[in-house]
Amino acid sequence: MEQTALVTGASRGIGRAVALELARRGWNVCVNYLERRDDALAVAALIEAEGRHALAIQADVADRGAVEAMVRDARAGLGPISLLVNNAGISPHGLFQDTDDATWDRTLAVNLTGAKNTIQAVLPHMLSEKRGCIVNISSIWGLRGASCEVAYACSKAAVIGLTRSLALELAPSGIRVNCVAPGCIDTDMVRVLGQETREMLVEETPLGRLGTPEDIAHAVAFFAEEESSFLTGQVLTADGGFIV
Ligand code: NAP
Repeated sequence: MEQTALVTGASRGIGRAVALELARRGWNVCVNYLERRDDALAVAALIEAEGRHALAIQADVADRGAVEAMVRDARAGLGPISLLVNNAGISPHGLFQDTDDATWDRTLAVNLTGAKNTIQAVLPHMLSEKRGCIVNISSIWGLRGASCEVAYACSKAAVIGLTRSLALELAPSGIRVNCVAPGCIDTDMVRVLGQETREMLVEETPLGRLGTPEDIAHAVAFFAEEESSFLTGQVLTADGGFIV
């Protein structure tokens, strides 16, 4: 039976790689994006070329109404969602003391409330089926804290709390909730930090390189596999040994 995944923030970076990897493993994919329509359409086209079905759907994950509409459209076009990957995220930089309310609120709204919104939108179907899989993307900074990214680190720590709590609440309903905590991955999010910081992060990573989006896609796909059906409430750190 064909199954459908929703990957938020799938127009580029980690989300794009996750969407493509899931398609390779047989999933139809709803490719969510915020602004980069052309990039999202290109990802959907690659998935179609893989022989699977895909739809690129715009929605700000922080907007509950937009998320509900996206899930309705995805269901109409691709069938009900049985795998949700909460990947969309933002990471503003700056001293905690200079972080204004708008930045703080937006970071939590996208990174934490966004995950809450999508989970609540896909849950009715998963509950009725008594099966489903949710993979949240946290970060090593949510595990160990991050200077100059306090709002981000708080939101990512909260995503781990969300994962563990929901894993307990939803286990009796046959729904698994897990989390991948990436280290330093070579995407726009790290590229904006500049070459010097990038080199420093490579030096601090025991395996001596930045991760690729595909490294994280494999970790996400691992949780989605039927063989992982006894795994829930777990945080898989994929970071080249950064926080060992
Ligand atoms: P990225 O390259 O900056 O891409 C961000 C993606 O999220 C884009 O597809 C973007 O859409 C989408 N997005 C942003 N805000 C959104 C919103 N409000 N609603 C819907 N989509 C939204 O980021 P990345 O590096 O791939 O990171 C992906 C996830 O991994 C994030 O949760 C991030 O915190 C986490 N992570 C990344 C790293 C790293 O080193 N890169 C490390 C740890 C964790 P548009 O293209 O349309 O703007």
